[in-house]
Amino acid sequence: MLRQHLQVLTSFIKDTEGLDTVAKALRELTEINYALDEALIIAITDVRGTITFANQRFCEISKYSRSELIGQNHRIINSGYHPPSYFREMWRTIANGKIWRGELKNRAKDGTFYWMDTVIVPSLNEKGKPYQYVSFRNEITSRKLAEERLDTLIATMPDIVIFKDGEGRWLKANNAAIDFFGLSDGCYQGLTNDDLLALPDVRGKALLRFGGSDEEAWAQGTRMRWETDALLENGETRTYEVTKVPVFHNDGKRSGLIVIDQDITERKQTERFLRRADTISAVGEMASGIAHEVRNPLAAIKWSLNVFAMDHPEHAEEFQAMLGELDRVDGILSELLMLAKPQEMRFDSVRLEGVLNVVATLMRNQAKRHGVELVVSVPDDLPMVRCEPNQIKQVFINLIKNGIEAMPNGGQVAVRVRVVDHDHLEITVKDQGVGIPAELLPRLGEPFLTTKDAGTGLGLMMCHKIIKDHHGQMDIRSVEHEGTEVTVLLPTVANPVVEPPKP
Ligand code: ADP
Ligand code: MG
Repeated sequence: MLRQHLQVLTSFIKDTEGLDTVAKALRELTEINYALDEALIIAITDVRGTITFANQRFCEISKYSRSELIGQNHRIINSGYHPPSYFREMWRTIANGKIWRGELKNRAKDGTFYWMDTVIVPSLNEKGKPYQYVSFRNEITSRKLAEERLDTLIATMPDIVIFKDGEGRWLKANNAAIDFFGLSDGCYQGLTNDDLLALPDVRGKALLRFGGSDEEAWAQGTRMRWETDALLENGETRTYEVTKVPVFHNDGKRSGLIVIDQDITERKQTERFLRRADTISAVGEMASGIAHEVRNPLAAIKWSLNVFAMDHPEHAEEFQAMLGELDRVDGILSELLMLAKPQEMRFDSVRLEGVLNVVATLMRNQAKRHGVELVVSVPDDLPMVRCEPNQIKQVFINLIKNGIEAMPNGGQVAVRVRVVDHDHLEITVKDQGVGIPAELLPRLGEPFLTTKDAGTGLGLMMCHKIIKDHHGQMDIRSVEHEGTEVTVLLPTVANPVVEPPKP
């Protein structure tokens, strides 16, 4: 339309002398108009929204002919995707004479959808009031589809993903993040981590608090990774790998930040387990060598000390202290030997009841001396377990001993057994003792890790090794100042031997 006007004007002006400059300007305008017409999808509507002009590309993409479009409202291509409020906002903007920009999803005559990057420019009369609206559009369907796919991918990712602006304010969080932090959809928008920490109902605050700082990531300018242990509201400590990717504008200003929190608790446990398994076998190999080498001279020293002690009764106390220390060394050696000894174990089908009764008898005296009540409850008719009974005894002696030692002022150690599923028994040893600090929990079972003056730090490591050899599992849960519960899972005998019926 504009092109025709311009052409008429140009030919009119050409005939007129002295208007060369005007003619040149008009020619340029014609060319710009032509380029625009080719490049963009253009439409003009009146103030009520009735289409008064649509260029060729508008017709092509909407699949309507020009005559079908002219005189119609834009609703003809409405996809129903955007809420009415979106259009109300658009109309408010352009009716006030301002330019509106936005992305619109439209529907073509054949029912297919396409996306348009849209600019609507109001043409204003001398009073500054719009008398028509010119819209320029660009098709962005493929980009929007890619975005939608990415959105779906991010929304369904098991990792926590958060998009923040250049000030660290939350813009968008995926489903995993919304679930984890217990947020309702959208309520987090515009809030920083500090704002969220101040809200009463937000969960997983430890991760917001310790997830490495946003500032650090921006200062660094590249992707940063932290590993952080977060004590969650349910009392569980889980390990997260936090990745922060700072995003900058071309001019170097901060544009945003992408945060990804991945729960790596299980991965870390496996790593730790493997490392521990390595240490255990290394220590085991070393142990027997050292233990045997040291045991004999140790026995000799002890014997000599005893002789000296008899000759020097005035130093009885010192000798007693020395012998006490030697007993401790001997104790450590015994535990080391335990670790190394049974390379080939004799597994039997065993009634756990019997094993636990022996352990209880052994431990009851020690318990009593410390003012601790030892309660063992084993249901009747348990399935048998396949085990090396002496080793399993060692495990429970160690666990009960730890329980007793955790209660300097007395209390109760309870040993309970139950059938968990077809082929596992669960044994729990629970005390009411001092508990284990959260930061120590993941390290339990490391050799020589002890918090006790007279401890060896080998007990739990030995338990781990034995339970592993039995294809079982051991978990330790503990709350400081409340107590500790160790759970051991042992496989039962898969196919119990059924006695043939007597003839
Ligand atoms: P030790 O008993 O010789 O110290 P262990 O390997 O048996 O070595 O235990 C290692 C550490 O784990 C202990 O020193 C203690 O800090 C902690 N621990 C183990 N069991 C318990 C428990 N039931 N209550 C509190 N702390 C425990
Ligand atoms: Mg111990």
